[in-house]
Amino acid sequence: EIVFVAKETDPNEGRVAASPDTVKKLKGLGFDVVVEAGAGFLSRIPDAEFEKSGARIGTTADYRAADVVLKVRRPTSVEIAGYRSGAIVIAIMDPYGNEAAIADMANAGLTAFAMELMPRITRAQSMDVLSSQANLAGYQAVIDAAYEYDRALPMMMTAAGTVPAAKVFVMGAGVAGLQAIATARRLGAVVSATDVRPAAKEQVASLGAKFIAVEDDEFKAAETAGGYAKEMSKDYQAKQAALVAEHIAKQDIVITTALIPGRPAPRLVTREMLKSMKPGSIAVDLAVERGGNVEGAEAGKVAEVEGVKVIGHLNVPGRIAASASGLYAKNLVTFLETMVSKETKALALNMEDELVKATALTHGGQVVHPNFGASKG
Ligand code: NAD
Repeated sequence: EIVFVAKETDPNEGRVAASPDTVKKLKGLGFDVVVEAGAGFLSRIPDAEFEKSGARIGTTADYRAADVVLKVRRPTSVEIAGYRSGAIVIAIMDPYGNEAAIADMANAGLTAFAMELMPRITRAQSMDVLSSQANLAGYQAVIDAAYEYDRALPMMMTAAGTVPAAKVFVMGAGVAGLQAIATARRLGAVVSATDVRPAAKEQVASLGAKFIAVEDDEFKAAETAGGYAKEMSKDYQAKQAALVAEHIAKQDIVITTALIPGRPAPRLVTREMLKSMKPGSIAVDLAVERGGNVEGAEAGKVAEVEGVKVIGHLNVPGRIAASASGLYAKNLVTFLETMVSKETKALALNMEDELVKATALTHGGQVVHPNFGASKG
């Protein structure tokens, strides 16, 4: 059976769905691997590296023969038209609000898997793309902030005087936020952080950052069974906003990462708050693609708002593509491995498996995922 690793067609996508390591792993699972020429270019993996690990370099003409297509992004209609009916396609599908594109994959007879729907259970930890990519995004957010900030992050005591340490405030201490805290600390900043989940308090403290939050009864009960944030009451939001407003005025860099599953990102930083910061301060909005945490943030831009540079880069993991590809490729191959029979080394897809059930969008000409219109095809 043939695995095809596609070259991404989105000009903003530098990642690739395989690495030399995962090609070897795929070969070991019994697959023939074809990598589209140039697929690894922006992740610094030359075709020759893929060849050395046992892949054949191919073109889009090889689509049709593929049993499995590995991608970073959901395939376009042109790409879909090239795949054979019955092929498996695995990617970050961005399914919410894209029901028409899902229906297209169903109609083409594809079995499409959305990696971001992987359940966050122990068995699937090594397949968790949200974590692998958010971790790098949190790191990159600090690097982007440092790049735009016209001052140093660490305190420097020199014969010519002292450069003060930058004050960094991280809002949302999930996977991305915790890595942002750790990275800012490594660069010598004085770091504080907030979150609405009480469990975050200890994690923030263990990284050496100060925790800032209104810790009332609502806060103490504010975590869902799945460990995710709840949308907070208007009253809590107002109290928290007042505390944050006072804190932000003293910060040099604010990094926001706050998301609530299935809801628009909460607005955490207002124009007024930005105005209270020193000129040349920085805000990085990692939630910009989901509506944004920062007022005035513009997707794909570094906007100037009230004297603050508001960074709204798109696809932040793609800005650190070579590292992000390595982890993403590993997530993919670990998932694909669960679909391969150990005895026959052939694909043996079990539609009842809980990982398959959670991530399969389309199969047998139908949309099979309950969140996206079961059996509507
Ligand atoms: P996320 O990307 O959904 O959200 C980022 C953070 O923003 C979260 O910590 C959330 O609580 C916070 N947030 C939401 N609204 C906020 C507000 N108004 N103010 C401040 N912060 C706000 O979260 P995530 O990074 O995916 O992590 C969510 C949870 O899942 C965490 O508890 C994490 O430890 C857990 N997790 C578990 C696994 C696993 O078990 N395999 C893997 C990854 C993450």
